[in-house]
Amino acid sequence: MTIKLYDSDSYLQTFSAEVLSCAPAGDRWRVILDQTAFFPEGGGQSPDPGTLGGAQVLDVQEEADGIAHYVDKPLNVGQTVTGEIDWPVRFRRMQNHTGEHIVSGICHRLYGYENVGFHLGEEAVTIDFSGELTWEQLMELERLANEAIWANVPVRAEYPDPAALKDMVYRSKLELTENVRIVTVEGYDVCACCAPHVHHTGEIGAIKILDSMRHRGGVRLTMICGTDTQLDYAKRTEQVKALSNLLSVPRDDVTQAVEKLKAEKEQLERTVAQRDQKLCDMRLKTLHETDGNLCIVDEFENPIAMRELVNAGMALCGGVCAAFSGDDKNGYRYIIGSRTVDLRVEAKAINAALKGKGGGQTTMIQGSCTATKAEIEAYFQS
Ligand SMILES: [Zn+2]
Repeated sequence: MTIKLYDSDSYLQTFSAEVLSCAPAGDRWRVILDQTAFFPEGGGQSPDPGTLGGAQVLDVQEEADGIAHYVDKPLNVGQTVTGEIDWPVRFRRMQNHTGEHIVSGICHRLYGYENVGFHLGEEAVTIDFSGELTWEQLMELERLANEAIWANVPVRAEYPDPAALKDMVYRSKLELTENVRIVTVEGYDVCACCAPHVHHTGEIGAIKILDSMRHRGGVRLTMICGTDTQLDYAKRTEQVKALSNLLSVPRDDVTQAVEKLKAEKEQLERTVAQRDQKLCDMRLKTLHETDGNLCIVDEFENPIAMRELVNAGMALCGGVCAAFSGDDKNGYRYIIGSRTVDLRVEAKAINAALKGKGGGQTTMIQGSCTATKAEIEAYFQS
């Protein structure tokens, strides 16, 4: 079986190994080495990327005959090759993975909940806990987890003998009695885990819980650690700075400023809707009974008022009553109604003439068009 170098030294970035076998596997090659520092996919974590003898490592899986490296070029059997782990990617995962242990350990101690799901994604980590937690509880959890970072306690991985293991209290308790790798974050967590971790909690830098949602009777939280928190903080700072500039308020006041803007916008919308209603009422008074068509082109923001206008117009005319809202530059929305013309049939001709699209019922259609006001009025002139 392949010797797992990452198991005893999670900081090993470059290593030499002998190629024991290399066979084609689809459009890739499957390589087994005598030893490897590449961590295979497992436990919610993706396989390590990197290079092996100049070939790109595309996937790493623990399989029956050892750890299989899937690479983009064939390697010579018997050859000694150099493997190189993509270190920034691996270190980021070590930070996030160790951070997950701390948060899970504290959560278990405080609330007795189990970690029942873990995924270390490209942008964040998700953890599922077996019970619900309020946002306040999560923020307390985050505060304590960061205290564990500041305490800079050691993180150890070891294989206790079966007797010691039997009496040990640890999370993710396994049925196995030997070869169980126990990872201890001193004072915070003891857990069975085979992934690479940092040596001291201080290396995690920071832990930030971003979000939470209810999930299968418990909670799924999204969090980031280490380099991810720094990148996220830089991004959020730029965002708030931009918002602060746009709103011309200090950074701490952006939320209130947006709330104020929103209230102002809602007030404006109400005002516009009322004015539209008045406009429609006024336009309605100008309509006269006719055997032909009625056509009104204006800027109506309120579709309900526009529809009422068409309804009233339909009763006055023998042809169609057509209301258009918009302008020549941006085009028009329309509502057309009629008591006498089958508009479902007529829609095709109207849309063709006015460069529009839309449809609806026999008595009423709606849509949009790009014809000009003059073209619209000419079309419906009667
Ligand atoms: Zn772990």
